[in-house]
Amino acid sequence: MPDFGANDLDAFWMPFTPNRRFKAHPRLLASAKGMFYRTPEGREVLDGTAGLWCVNAGHDRPRIREAIQKQAAEMDFAPSFNMGHPLAFQFASRLAQITPKGLDRIFFTNSGSESVDTALKIALAYHRARGKGTKTRLIGRERGYHGVGFGGISVGGISTNRKTFGSLLTGVDHLPHTHGVPGNLFTKGQPEHGAHLADDLERIVALHDASNIAAVIVEPVAGSTGVLVPPKGYLERLRAICDRHDILLIFDEVISGFGRLAAPFAADRFGVTPDLMCLAKGLTNAAVPCGAVAASTAIYDAMLAGAEAPIELFHGYTYSAHPLACAAGLATLETYREDDLFARAAAIEGYWREAIHTLADARHVIDIRDLGIVAGIELAPRDGAPTARATEVFETCFDEGLLIRVTGDTIALSPPLILEKSHIDRMVETLRSVLGRVA
Ligand code: PLP
Repeated sequence: MPDFGANDLDAFWMPFTPNRRFKAHPRLLASAKGMFYRTPEGREVLDGTAGLWCVNAGHDRPRIREAIQKQAAEMDFAPSFNMGHPLAFQFASRLAQITPKGLDRIFFTNSGSESVDTALKIALAYHRARGKGTKTRLIGRERGYHGVGFGGISVGGISTNRKTFGSLLTGVDHLPHTHGVPGNLFTKGQPEHGAHLADDLERIVALHDASNIAAVIVEPVAGSTGVLVPPKGYLERLRAICDRHDILLIFDEVISGFGRLAAPFAADRFGVTPDLMCLAKGLTNAAVPCGAVAASTAIYDAMLAGAEAPIELFHGYTYSAHPLACAAGLATLETYREDDLFARAAAIEGYWREAIHTLADARHVIDIRDLGIVAGIELAPRDGAPTARATEVFETCFDEGLLIRVTGDTIALSPPLILEKSHIDRMVETLRSVLGRVA
């Protein structure tokens, strides 16, 4: 790493970070391999979060690194507007082979936020193409996180966005979140209670009429707002109501895709197929930024059969299907296949679950949620200072060699899927010890 001085901290306006607090006590990562990061001083940090829920195959996979290097030497960039390079088509074909049946038309973006806004725009354009242009309302969910684009923060259910940026897009409604339903505390896997909350969609339909509603978007498992696992039957019920009223169902699988839930996608895990699926993160093992929307053949076909126009979907990014991202993505999908990583996640899920739930009696813990290789450990908020306790746990864990993520008062864990039992044990031991010491 080049020489790094204290002044170098100033210019970078860090995203989603209390900049002053961080810059007073910076935490830097200099290299990464497998399950571990290393700090500039050479201290090892176990990656309990797969970076940011994205390095599903572990760090520095040679196949992925070499594919990126090779592509960089061959062709740095090629436009995808009215032009193409073979890797883009190959990557889309290969991805369409593993997405749920019928979701086999792929639109490339560069991030989860762009995938969400793309999916929302496809939903609106699709209804217009079918002559149903009044279907414009979008429905999200309280406590939903769908990235940071205007569409995403509007359908998302995080009040800080409204406090910071105002009232956002109009024509948006929100379903209730599924958190805190009585009887669900400390559930292992999917909770029993709360499927009825999907019925709120019928209330919104009754209020606005289905002729005005374009799409519903949900994270099958909400990650960034505290690991909220859908109650049994909830997603099935949403699907049925959407079908009844010709409303598109969008799954934001930016976190839940690519083995995170011990299945290729949440759609597979829950047996519910959406009409559009938002992808990013694990799509390239995070080695190069990339996102995608997987659309149903029916949507694609309807768009192409719509009113004749030179461009069927007036949308795209300079870096859609960037050659480096396609190279990284193809190598990532091959790595998942070769290592059988999704099955591996399924094989270790039981051990993960039982180990995480041993923290039920750890100090401050008021709930634990899990599914696949994800866990949320909710802490009692400190009096008068919500999130302060979780923040302290995060900072102490980092000092003691474990990277976790906290969201509100919940510790979120989502390690790379290559993890071994010994890594799980180490995470649980560190957490128990830190929780025992934090006030
Ligand atoms: N959607 C979900 C469900 C996410 O968890 C995230 C990021 O964590 C996003 C969208 C946004 O992705 P990005 O940060 O790549 O824009």
